[in-house]
Amino acid sequence: TLSLVWLRRDLRLHDNAALYHALKSGRPVLPVFIFDQLILEQLEDRCDRRVEFLVEEVSRLRSELSQLGSAIVVRYGKPIDVWQELIKEYAIGDVFTNHDYEVYAKDRDKAVAELLAERSIGFHTSKDQTIFERDEVLTKTGKSYTVFTPYSRTWHKKLTSFYVKAYPTERYFEHLWKADLLPMPSLEDMDFQAVGNPFPERKVSDKLLDNYKKTRDVPALKHSTSELSIHLRFGTISIRDLARQAQQSSDKTFLNELCWRDFYFQVLDHFPHVEKESFRRDYDRIEWRNNEQEFDKWCRGETGYPIVDAGMRQLNSIGWMHNRVRMITASFLCKHLLIDWRWGEAYFGKKLRDYDLSANNGGWQWAAGSGTDAAPYFRVFNPTLQAKKFDPKGEYIRKWVPEVDSKDYPHPIVEHTFARQRAIDAYRKALAKG
Ligand code: FAD
Repeated sequence: TLSLVWLRRDLRLHDNAALYHALKSGRPVLPVFIFDQLILEQLEDRCDRRVEFLVEEVSRLRSELSQLGSAIVVRYGKPIDVWQELIKEYAIGDVFTNHDYEVYAKDRDKAVAELLAERSIGFHTSKDQTIFERDEVLTKTGKSYTVFTPYSRTWHKKLTSFYVKAYPTERYFEHLWKADLLPMPSLEDMDFQAVGNPFPERKVSDKLLDNYKKTRDVPALKHSTSELSIHLRFGTISIRDLARQAQQSSDKTFLNELCWRDFYFQVLDHFPHVEKESFRRDYDRIEWRNNEQEFDKWCRGETGYPIVDAGMRQLNSIGWMHNRVRMITASFLCKHLLIDWRWGEAYFGKKLRDYDLSANNGGWQWAAGSGTDAAPYFRVFNPTLQAKKFDPKGEYIRKWVPEVDSKDYPHPIVEHTFARQRAIDAYRKALAKG
């Protein structure tokens, strides 16, 4: 009998908790990856960077395993159906996998665990994609944190070398099952096409981490931030390796970003209603304007506010947007246009190569003011001042909106002072009702 490791958001052989436990199970180990039909069928754009990335990275794993004399089972289908097939095809003793915190994923894993239990197959799960999860960081009275700053204090205090130690999988690679290369579906088999842009590097320099505090808010800079988000999203880099590197840096600002990442995972895990509703439920009383034409202009980057348009065009063009500009564009949609944050969240969800439900939802609810760390609703970003502060020479803007100084560039979609007051009035009205 075999131990199967089901890889999902942890596409690496190095420092992988589930793989480590499987390798130590005493049975030959065979990794599995499932292209989830339920997710892929919903993607509207058949040129999807995330699917392309997955195909590249699973192929890489497949060749790494082949060099080790082993293989990976790669299937396209509904996870539960694929597991039914695998049970028939292989003599499985145990299945190992890593935790996932999204509602869909938790339900999926529960269904698979039940199926396996019916056949007396063990289902073992581990923490892998976060430093701390579930109930590891709680308030003194054992409650979930709902504000970042106190959460981060406890998080940093708890962060000993124990939590960032790598799992030494390499030591046990001889326990991988000896097998020949197995087939794998191509992008085209799954009805997708390549976009073709290269993906960012899988590593970050110590120099960037040391200077991160100074560079992180300068979207015009080439390597202003690490651009590791897609690698963290799919686990092609180990969070523990990265946290260790960040700990050694002379500045701890970057480490704190990894703390934000954990924080939003735990918000989603502990407060699953955020996926559909506002974290602060009274914010769901806001009467959004939801003007579709204005939404389309925002999506296309044609609002007449250069920093907003630059951000949206960067997103549409490369599937990534600088964090500072994500904050500005999101705030503009919710406050200036009074469009429901869920519309913006869904649009980012379609376009971001690093799309992660927890961080995206957290970012959007922050911008709308409805989330955990809500800024007071009357604080409305002024996009013109934000641009002056963070792109003073207009370099970022001109890169993405080259016509900004010509007469072809549209007039502002709405006047700032008017929009600001309209937003404050709408928020005040909704929140007064309680
Ligand atoms: P760096 O600045 O180099 O940070 C390193 C890593 O820390 C990131 O890769 C990310 O994993 C983590 N991180 C940094 N900031 C945050 C944050 N605020 N919240 C959670 N994790 C963070 N991030 C996503 O990974 N996926 C998303 O779908 C996503 N959507 C967002 C939507 C909005 C409206 C906002 C305001 C932010 C969103 N973020 C999201 C957070 C942040 O913008 C990105 O993580 C960051 O821009 C990715 O670029 P980087 O890897 O260069 O980040």
